[in-house]
Amino acid sequence: MLQLRRVAQQNIPKVGRRLRQGALQTASWQSYRGLATASEPYDVVVIGGGPGGYVAAIKAAQLGLKTACIEKRGSLGGTCLNVGCIPSKAMLNNSHLYHQAKHDFERRGIDVSGVSLNLPKMLEAKNTAVTGLTKGIEHLFKANKVDYIKGAASFTSSTSLSVSLLSGGEQQVEAKNIIIATGSEVTPFPGGSIEIDEKQIVSSTGALELEKVPGKMVVIGGGIIGLEMGSVWSRLGAEVTVVEFLNGIGGVGIDEEVAKQFQRLLTKQGLKFKLNTKVLSADKKDGKVYLTAESAKDGKQETLEADVVLVAVGRRPYTDGLNLEAAGVEVDSRGRVVIDDQFTTSVKHIRCIGDVTFGPMLAHKAEEEGIAAVEHIKSGHGHVNYNAIPSVVYTHPEVAWVGRTEQDLKADGVKYNIGKFSFTANSRAKTNLDTDGFVKIITEKETDKILGVHIIGPNAGEMIAEGVLAVEYGASAEDVARTCHAHPTLSEAFKEAAMAAYGKPIHM
Ligand SMILES: Cc1cc2nc3c(=O)[nH]c(=O)nc-3n(C[C@H](O)[C@H](O)[C@H](O)COP(=O)(O)OP(=O)(O)OC[C@H]3O[C@@H](n4cnc5c(N)ncnc54)[C@H](O)[C@@H]3O)c2cc1C
Repeated sequence: MLQLRRVAQQNIPKVGRRLRQGALQTASWQSYRGLATASEPYDVVVIGGGPGGYVAAIKAAQLGLKTACIEKRGSLGGTCLNVGCIPSKAMLNNSHLYHQAKHDFERRGIDVSGVSLNLPKMLEAKNTAVTGLTKGIEHLFKANKVDYIKGAASFTSSTSLSVSLLSGGEQQVEAKNIIIATGSEVTPFPGGSIEIDEKQIVSSTGALELEKVPGKMVVIGGGIIGLEMGSVWSRLGAEVTVVEFLNGIGGVGIDEEVAKQFQRLLTKQGLKFKLNTKVLSADKKDGKVYLTAESAKDGKQETLEADVVLVAVGRRPYTDGLNLEAAGVEVDSRGRVVIDDQFTTSVKHIRCIGDVTFGPMLAHKAEEEGIAAVEHIKSGHGHVNYNAIPSVVYTHPEVAWVGRTEQDLKADGVKYNIGKFSFTANSRAKTNLDTDGFVKIITEKETDKILGVHIIGPNAGEMIAEGVLAVEYGASAEDVARTCHAHPTLSEAFKEAAMAAYGKPIHM
């Protein structure tokens, strides 16, 4: 029965696609033609060396296309490696260890004394991680024969770019296909009433570089970036207040039940929350920042004092200096480059991927699009399953999800089952004295197909991969529940939640 269902659920076209890719790869290596000369146009030029752009460039070269990647930052990896995913995760990991050493080791029978913070060293460790990884991409470019052009690209026509080189001078680059992967930038505070100086009023970039732990920190915005950076500085000793305009934390796409539990756990850790509250303005005086905030419910105003304010109200597409008009590439009212389902812009041979176009601003989403866009160029086929893109908040506990939320399904009138399993009943979590959170699996009532997976708990960011695979392959809860999971592992909670979705779990 199970076997039959598995076969029925296999996505046949997808399998075909993967086989085709394999065949293409073999053929392409044989037909690799080397790098472009000045007179010869590139097959593919990628503008932007972030996770979308560098992955697209490597994939294009692997498929035998003569490829260049233009990046103006001076290092590869984009926002993600330089000022985003990687440095923030370095700070999250190390601040967690510090916090554990100070507040958690004792109950585990580990006596340590004299634990103190060496912030310059922690920042240095973060920078070492960043440099190692950005240099690693340069090696990958060399190994795959991608030309790395260091400078800012600007369209002069739909097939040519002028690059203002970091080393000085200009270089003209001709291309048969161009991929725009110029990413995003911090959204300034609406109305311009709060100016970011990256010292006292910082964006996420400044929040990764603070030279001392602020006494009081106010985070404007309770989305993923605000909560991650707020957690870092709270663990290192700051008194952190998160101000959020909406009625819940965690940003777009989080399951409401998870968001509530998440807020309870972060509050237990010492973070304070002001929901339904709008920050109006900021005044700097005597080394402090005074924020005026207004209740969205009754309009009552209050003043919040802070040593450092983090503005984390989102990011917006970045196309400055690209001169899109020269190529005829259109953007929408929010500045996003307009594309169709093959990543094609209003100009046929110019494609666009990542943060600068539609969809969630996530590194792995940009990477998937980079590969699919190149496959479209090479073979006319490429695919991204937007329903199977995971989101992760790397706090402790972590929060991760994929697919539909309960509130969305309710709103759409879809009939569903829920299987939930708490980490308090999971042997590994109990052994590790780390039992906060649960796994929640939502299935279609009639078919048992998994529609969404929501995890709050230790290692949720790793565990969600199983949920993504289940959604990608259209698995049922029974498929997952009948799959053997190693004991004792946290992932047994995933299996038990799947059991709970169509029957009963064993251990709860
Ligand atoms: C603090 C923070 C934490 C984050 N954490 C995560 C996380 O944990 N997981 C996750 O998935 N995502 C995370 N993100 C989001 C992630 O960084 C982005 O979604 C991802 O970097 C987008 O990739 P991209 O390739 O589209 O653009 P980017 O990474 O922004 O790269 C674009 C590149 O293009 C270059 N460029 C722009 N214009 C030009 C031009 N004209 N010529 C040449 N080069 C140009 C830029 O210099 C830049 O390097 C985080 C972001 C931040 C700010």
